[in-house]
Amino acid sequence: MKTLGILGGMSWESSALLYQLLNREVAERLGGLNSADLLLRSVNFAEIEALQRAGDWAGAARVLGEAGLGLKSAGAQALLIATNTMHKVADEVEALSGLPLIHIVDVTAQALQAAGVRRVGLLATRYTMEEDFYSGRMLNRHGIETLMPAPAQRLELHRVIFEELCRGQIRAESRAFYLQVVQDLAAAGAEAVILGCTEIALLLDPQVQAALPLFDSTALQAQAAVEWMLGGTTAV
Ligand code: GLU
Repeated sequence: MKTLGILGGMSWESSALLYQLLNREVAERLGGLNSADLLLRSVNFAEIEALQRAGDWAGAARVLGEAGLGLKSAGAQALLIATNTMHKVADEVEALSGLPLIHIVDVTAQALQAAGVRRVGLLATRYTMEEDFYSGRMLNRHGIETLMPAPAQRLELHRVIFEELCRGQIRAESRAFYLQVVQDLAAAGAEAVILGCTEIALLLDPQVQAALPLFDSTALQAQAAVEWMLGGTTAV
């Protein structure tokens, strides 16, 4: 099995979920006591979040790039950034770490393509919904159009992520709000919705009865990573 390096802790709530999914997937495929061969570098999310808010993406890229380099020295053979948002600096982190990256947009796009989805709604942080690094790559590399929620909804989606989900708080009223946004995206012409923030699956079970099929970025990352670790087809 190949060794995967994970840049996690953004937030640790979602990294804990990813850790479980990776190990369960390996156990399911190999059986017995098999588990995932991993190196996890879990950062202090308060420091990363402060850099995000200050718009210091170069600073955040340096922190994550150096952490990635540490994972390479420790024996990692590829890298997973366990957050959608920090893929804003994916190219820099990949270059600084010297490790090939399993890119979250590419693995999500592959699942959408397999399901025949061409127009998809996105639930994520404001950084992921409003800047070009996510939707641009979806369109330019994969030919998939991304529909964003209305501006006021984006504010509330973002608030729930940072004030509730990243702190382990799960609220019924926030779940209802997220489901309402899925319904509005369906009305706007989306064929599916991406849970494009790694904490959303903690609030919204991807299997839940929603207005559209839900594609969970955390689960898709885990599946693609295990595929790579076990030597199958690879997103790297
Ligand atoms: N985990 C979240 C994501 O997937 C948000 C935390 C962050 O800003 O990195 O985007």
